Amino acid sequence: MADSTLELLKELTEANGIPGYESPVRNIVRNLLEPLGKISQDKIGSVICEVNGSSEAPKLMLAGHMDEIGFMVKHITKEGFLHFLPLGGWFDQVLLGQRLVIKTKKGDVVGVIGAKPPHLLSADQRTKVVKRTDMYIDIGATSKEEVEDAGVRPGDPVIPRADFVPLASGKTYLSKAFDDRVGVALIISSLRQLKPGEHPNTIFGVATVQEEVGVRGATTSVRAVDPDLAIVLESDIAGDVPGIKPEESSVELGKGPTVLIYDARMIPNIKFRDFVMDLAEEIEVPLQISYVEGGSTDGAAIHLHNTGVPTVVIAVPVRHIHSDSSIIHRDDYDNAVKLLVEMLKRLDSEKVAEFTA
Ligand SMILES: [Zn+2]
Repeated sequence: MADSTLELLKELTEANGIPGYESPVRNIVRNLLEPLGKISQDKIGSVICEVNGSSEAPKLMLAGHMDEIGFMVKHITKEGFLHFLPLGGWFDQVLLGQRLVIKTKKGDVVGVIGAKPPHLLSADQRTKVVKRTDMYIDIGATSKEEVEDAGVRPGDPVIPRADFVPLASGKTYLSKAFDDRVGVALIISSLRQLKPGEHPNTIFGVATVQEEVGVRGATTSVRAVDPDLAIVLESDIAGDVPGIKPEESSVELGKGPTVLIYDARMIPNIKFRDFVMDLAEEIEVPLQISYVEGGSTDGAAIHLHNTGVPTVVIAVPVRHIHSDSSIIHRDDYDNAVKLLVEMLKRLDSEKVAEFTA
């Protein structure tokens, strides 16, 4: 039997959509959400899917960002190399040797981020980090004219070239863009599971844009929805790899979804956070605690909307986040869906009012 979750994660992570250039992934997301509710869009491109339940109030916003980190062509040298701008927070060390696709008016152009071969580096240079400003994209051209003939222009989006691969255990998946297509997938999976009338609220599933450049789509779409409560669905940093201390991240792959207790721009609503933790225990979903000092989510904008919106972040742990090859565990995903569906069934007006009492 076809595995619809695996198909969903493959389709969403292999889709292209960097900040400001989300249309390829947006078309896919719109098609996936169309059978589930009433679709609309804010004016910078976030997709909103309204799903009616047994009561109009409260309005719940589910937010997952559909943009992935990438680059933009900035300048073409006369020798035919491309300087580029990052869109989102890249760690320079993961860039060298990476294959990329440039989306041009004439179609896709493949390139690679160039580096000096080790043979030409001094012993001292080999131990040093190459700065992004010293890197360039090579599309195999020998002049600026050749680059232009290929259709490449400054402003063209550049996307990591990577495919979705189930790994040896069968339980873990490797792909680009789990940040945050996994969050978008959680919204779709949970809306697919909920039956009409099974939730005492109106749900707005929102695939936001431009999160990676400063939660811009969340800032606009929260105004369109004007929610009473929000659940941000995200990817989280798995700390179970060499070099990360538990006090930096104690999150492990396969040990359950996470609930965020702290990030750089939001402290979740404490009563809502505790509701999530108690519920997970009751329905026997393993839940991990997470703290991210050097990052934030769409919650940063959403929880400050109007006079404030009670907000939590539920996430799926991801190894090697913000690179072109990240890994998730299927159990964490399935448990996140289970928890989310149960939350949506229980969040009625009375419950939501308690969070701000
Ligand atoms: Zn994210």
